[in-house]
Amino acid sequence: MPTSYPHNPISNSQLIKYGAKEANKRQEEERIPPPDTGWEGPLPNHEGGSEKGYLFKPPYAWQSTKFHTKYHSACWCGKVEFEYHGDPIDAKHCHCTQCQRLHGACFQWAALYFKTSVRLKPSCDPMYLKFFSTQERHSDHHAPCKVSCRNCGSHLLDEGRTMVMAYPPSFGFKDQQIPDAFAPSCHIFYKNRVINVDDGVPKWSGHKDKSELMPHDAEGGHKLGLGNEHKYKDRHNVEKT
Ligand SMILES: [Zn+2]
Ligand SMILES: [Zn+2]
Repeated sequence: MPTSYPHNPISNSQLIKYGAKEANKRQEEERIPPPDTGWEGPLPNHEGGSEKGYLFKPPYAWQSTKFHTKYHSACWCGKVEFEYHGDPIDAKHCHCTQCQRLHGACFQWAALYFKTSVRLKPSCDPMYLKFFSTQERHSDHHAPCKVSCRNCGSHLLDEGRTMVMAYPPSFGFKDQQIPDAFAPSCHIFYKNRVINVDDGVPKWSGHKDKSELMPHDAEGGHKLGLGNEHKYKDRHNVEKT
């Protein structure tokens, strides 16, 4: 029974029990400044919203000789491709109902990059970029926003204020081998899961470090989140129970 949710201090034994100790250590070691990829000046849209010329600034169509592409990602039809400098600084699985609904998937897999480590492939036409702001609920560019292909609809990344959350299923990896740097360090919003994941990776009921750690096969779950259930009832005038 959770007694200290949502800001429980996590004990050492809890961290060890659910495998979070190693993951936290890895993140501490990886708390590094952004690599120098040649971008000078303020980070575009770092306070949110949309600034003039955003299409020609990170993480979109910009160029630098200091940017060295390590990974590529592409939408299903190939109109939109992104390039990534170096490894992601973290990766995670999010089971929140927003991710489930927007991705049409059981959960989201996201790899975290600094915004200046991402760019649209120079041969791609930025006009194929499609945006969606969950905050503003419109499809004009407004950071933070989700970015997909206007033609085929594949989701490619989330542009945050300072970071990009890239979706590894759109990446092309050598020999189809997923590099260790893309392995998730945790699952978040696991209480909303629709499937159990027995992978030995720490599972937080809500936000990382601000909720309860859960066993992979915890009771409950396997149902659509209460939030959406309520929204559905409101929208369809279903009698509340
Ligand atoms: Zn496409
Ligand atoms: Zn989510």
